[in-house]
Amino acid sequence: MKKKIIISGNWKMNKTIQETETFLEEIKTLNLNKNIEICLFIPYTNLATAIKYSNNMKIGAQNCHWEEFGTFTGEISVRMLDSLGIKNILIGHSERRKYFKENCEIINKKIHIALKYDMNITLCVGETLEERNSKIERQAILSQLKKSFYNVSKDFISNFIIAYEPVWAIGTGITAEPSQAEEMCKFIKKSVYELYKKSIRVIYGGSVNSGNIENFLKQNNINGCLIGASSLKVENFEKLINKCV
Ligand code: PEP
Repeated sequence: MKKKIIISGNWKMNKTIQETETFLEEIKTLNLNKNIEICLFIPYTNLATAIKYSNNMKIGAQNCHWEEFGTFTGEISVRMLDSLGIKNILIGHSERRKYFKENCEIINKKIHIALKYDMNITLCVGETLEERNSKIERQAILSQLKKSFYNVSKDFISNFIIAYEPVWAIGTGITAEPSQAEEMCKFIKKSVYELYKKSIRVIYGGSVNSGNIENFLKQNNINGCLIGASSLKVENFEKLINKCV
């Protein structure tokens, strides 16, 4: 059987509840290929609405706190997400690392609490431009993987998808070369295998759109894509999905 293609959308800080409803209503007519697994990572405020209209797509949160509850004003816990029926979480996105100073230790704590609730985690890793220019991109990724997976049991590896997202390619319009992305996704799979003797699914993210997605999906070690800007408008998202057939 052909392996499922993973298409994940990251809406970032976009869309009101009404806009979310409109998007999901419009996309209902889209003939979703059985071989594509779609997950939309959307703002917290829209989750409750979105799971009602999700039409076989998975709905996920873009973040969570590392504690179950407590004195963390303004934060949302995995326990709260679980109570909404949310089972997918994006952890470690580079915008969280950059703007909210999340480091691998924090990410590791978030992973542990998410696994306590048996969440499916899309863990983002990626090197900066400086790291790539210094030719230490593999060390950077390996370090992120090892720290993020600290004390994570191999029994949970099937809960993960790794999103390889070179920081310099996110929201910049500059994509990695498909061969570069393939090389890094292969490296991630090999690294996780060496750590856990288990295989893991790896997707690529960074300025993917309907014009370039096929070049990434053709690669042997890329199981799908994480898509930011091009997941926001139904017409763009639809074009993109149609390229995955
Ligand atoms: C992202 O937000 O993870 C992302 C890849 O964004 P974009 O597709 O806009 O580069």
